[in-house]
Amino acid sequence: MRSPLLTPVTYSRKRYVFVCLACDRLSEASRADQVTCSSCCRVHLHRHPELVADLRVLAAKMHITVAQGQHAAALLRLCPELEAPIMAGTLTMEAARPQVLAAFDRLVMQVARQLAEKSTFQNRAIAEASYA
Ligand SMILES: [Zn+2]
Repeated sequence: MRSPLLTPVTYSRKRYVFVCLACDRLSEASRADQVTCSSCCRVHLHRHPELVADLRVLAAKMHITVAQGQHAAALLRLCPELEAPIMAGTLTMEAARPQVLAAFDRLVMQVARQLAEKSTFQNRAIAEASYA
């Protein structure tokens, strides 16, 4: 029997990787229009709309949303090799999304591995210090 945690609904969940407008870090959202990574960044942007005024004008001129621009920024950081086929019209941003998500997941796992190694190293140092 299939685990309730592994339902097709779980697999089909929409995920979008974007560059946060406030802190400039890569982040992930389930909503396509999300442009900030946290409530802290959302409030900061709300209090300082001048920080993204130029970007909003530019996006409007290009007939895209600011969020679409932030998705493209994430793609350029994670999969710069996809820029050429997108610009050539042989690949769409939507079709490239799985590759961008996979690159983001690899980055998250890389960071997690480094944190785990650091944690193990620190725990070993604490254990050695307490036995000394
Ligand atoms: Zn942020």
